[in-house]
Amino acid sequence: MMDCIFCKIINKEIPSQIVYEDKDIFAFKDINPRAPVHILIIPKRHIPDISQIEPEDADLIGRIHVAAVKIAQEAGIAEQGYRLVNNCKENGGQEVYHLHFHLIGGRKLGAFAG
Ligand code: C5P
Repeated sequence: MMDCIFCKIINKEIPSQIVYEDKDIFAFKDINPRAPVHILIIPKRHIPDISQIEPEDADLIGRIHVAAVKIAQEAGIAEQGYRLVNNCKENGGQEVYHLHFHLIGGRKLGAFAG
């Protein structure tokens, strides 16, 4: 997607603080962190939101979660815990329409209020 900001970040047309990359997955520090650790983990393929995934994406989505666990360990937040969040569409609070999972930790987060 030519005008997708996260595709541009993946393609390194826009700089980011990369924390993980493999052939299908990319992770970088959120530009507006809401906690000491706030990392976005995204598929390299442009999928607009979680509602667009197909059964054949199950492995990719699973590997994103495995990457999140590894990234949390490397960021030093694994022991105390963290939150892994996906926002879907308008009511879910999604702002960027390239599927992403927020890995948030490094402080005690408030109870999820919705
Ligand atoms: O889930 P949602 O779509 O609301 O989250 C988008 C996230 O992308 C925000 O946390 C925002 O700070 C982040 N962002 C970023 N770099 C950009 C644009 C947005 O890290 N260039």
